[in-house]
Amino acid sequence: METTVAQKRLEEMRDDLDRTIAVLQGERPGPVAGAGYPQDSADAGSMLSEADRTEAILDSARDQRDGVLAALSRIEEDSYGQCVDCGHEIPEGRLDARPDAARRVGCPSKWAKRHR
Ligand SMILES: [Zn+2]
Repeated sequence: METTVAQKRLEEMRDDLDRTIAVLQGERPGPVAGAGYPQDSADAGSMLSEADRTEAILDSARDQRDGVLAALSRIEEDSYGQCVDCGHEIPEGRLDARPDAARRVGCPSKWAKRHR
């Protein structure tokens, strides 16, 4: 995949995530997450789980956005497409499926096994 194509796709992903995060933050009840819920209300439980769900989606959207931003900065540094752990080239097919991939498929499991 051409780096310019990858950059365009990553910028679109970043913009999508920005919109998702903005919408979710707008839906979040209360000015401070996890605070200010009515403790004696029958709805408190469902409100809390709803907020937890929103918070979990927000977290994963922020994680994805971090990964996309990291990939964009690798393009700027001319190291895009190389595994951040071993420096080998990430296969084209993986980058096509995940333009924000930072590692080769085998690498995360290899590193995880090392900690057993
Ligand atoms: Zn690697």
